[in-house]
Amino acid sequence: MDEAKPEGSLDAYEDAIIAGFRDYRVIDSAVARLQRRGFHVEELGMRFVREKGHMIYMLESPAVQNVTRILVTTGAHGDEAECAYGLLSFLETFKPQNEQLAVIPVTNPRAFVAGKTGIKYDFNRAFPEDASVDVDIAGDVPEAVKIVCKALRGRRFDVHFDLHSDFEGKGFFVYERLAEKTKQAKSLARRLVERLDEEGFRHNEEKSVSTRLIGNQRNYSGVVPSYRKEQTFEAYMAARGVPFCYTLEFPEAALVERPDLQLKLVVRALEMAVEESRRVFYPARIRKILGYSETTK
Ligand SMILES: [Zn+2]
Repeated sequence: MDEAKPEGSLDAYEDAIIAGFRDYRVIDSAVARLQRRGFHVEELGMRFVREKGHMIYMLESPAVQNVTRILVTTGAHGDEAECAYGLLSFLETFKPQNEQLAVIPVTNPRAFVAGKTGIKYDFNRAFPEDASVDVDIAGDVPEAVKIVCKALRGRRFDVHFDLHSDFEGKGFFVYERLAEKTKQAKSLARRLVERLDEEGFRHNEEKSVSTRLIGNQRNYSGVVPSYRKEQTFEAYMAARGVPFCYTLEFPEAALVERPDLQLKLVVRALEMAVEESRRVFYPARIRKILGYSETTK
């Protein structure tokens, strides 16, 4: 990496994207740096490529009482490295308020190092359909998925954001999966799409679902209410009772021309995602004090 560019800076991550190959030392050193900054780091399990081990890490911001618990994950698909770099870069400046962040920056290290969508299987289609199943007994669950499922066992989260890049590359969009009891909530995803649009990060207008198909839930361009049956991470967390589950899809095509913009989009989207989570989860009284006019039911 270019020595003139400080480690963990967007410039350094941009270089890592341009370089093409995935050097896991970039992840190791970012995690070490964030640990020094106060994140609690847990080593979930090692995945090997030709005898060389690559750790799946989980980072947590300091615990606070009565907080919103936000889970952010990425790295399911190894050819979407900008999401992991953007997430780590976001953490460098993140200051927790009323939330605790748990982050798994690379869920599937073998695919990450290879720079491939997946090796032998698609991580984001390999979660157990039945969230209550013991992954150690379920024989068909790949090792990396097992490690991640076990790390999340027994933990409560209010929101889950899983970050991906979309090969169509036509703009940002979101799969939004809400638990039954939160269906009426003002769409966090819609706010995210609108706010990014305002800053010039266009959304993918083709992504929406017909209102006719989804009952009385309204549809918005750039937001896909998710009823996917595939065994995705988002579906698994929803089945585990997380009320707000999102898959954020960043345009992959931007990567080819402007990795700098791509990284900025990921960082900005995460800043907004956390802000919007605060808005959704602050108790009404606190929201009023803070001047948030909108409420969620
Ligand atoms: Zn993906």
